[in-house]
Amino acid sequence: MKRKIVIATMNNHKASEIKALIGDRYEVMTQALFSLPSVPETGKSFEENALIKAYEVAQKTDLLTLGDDSGLEVDLLGGEPGVYSARYAGIHSTDDENNKKLIKELEKYRGQRIAARFHSVIALVDPSINDPKIFHGTWEGRVTFDQKGSHGFGYDPIFYIDELGCTAAELSQRDKNIHSHRAKAMKKFCNYLTKNTQIMK
Ligand code: IMP
Repeated sequence: MKRKIVIATMNNHKASEIKALIGDRYEVMTQALFSLPSVPETGKSFEENALIKAYEVAQKTDLLTLGDDSGLEVDLLGGEPGVYSARYAGIHSTDDENNKKLIKELEKYRGQRIAARFHSVIALVDPSINDPKIFHGTWEGRVTFDQKGSHGFGYDPIFYIDELGCTAAELSQRDKNIHSHRAKAMKKFCNYLTKNTQIMK
């Protein structure tokens, strides 16, 4: 029988990337399968939010749970939108509205290199022990005013990676999953699971 892991997210794009990164060694479920509502992100850091989500869903499902919190950090904006990435333009804002708001905030820097990074924090919570594990991954790039690509989600169309010569939205999910912040955090996560099989239910 395959081991079970629940992904504490309501974001289908994110869940799909994470499922592909875990592979088929595990039975991967999302919180939607348990009809659990979205968990409010009340933390001040990615780490706090990843833990809040993982603890809440682990408690409700009694299963090993992965919580992910992530976002875009722009150096010229002191790390914003950061933990507010999903609701940068307002509480129920769409990806397009968030991108437009970011471009507007950055208008005064047009012509400069706008360094930015995606940051992903993955929290692993086993409901039977109080010993959460945390894994970080970052992806360096810059914000471009020239929005391109139709894959991915969120800020992908305006996140340009110089070494790849394209935006994240121009990458297939397979290629994004080789380079991304989430891929890097998930690699550490999967290595941990492989070495610590006893923590699995
Ligand atoms: P949360 O982790 O669900 O709070 O949302 C993170 C937000 O950060 C998303 O809604 C996106 O706006 C942004 N974000 C996180 N990861 C990515 C990514 O891989 N591509 C594009 N945007 C991302």
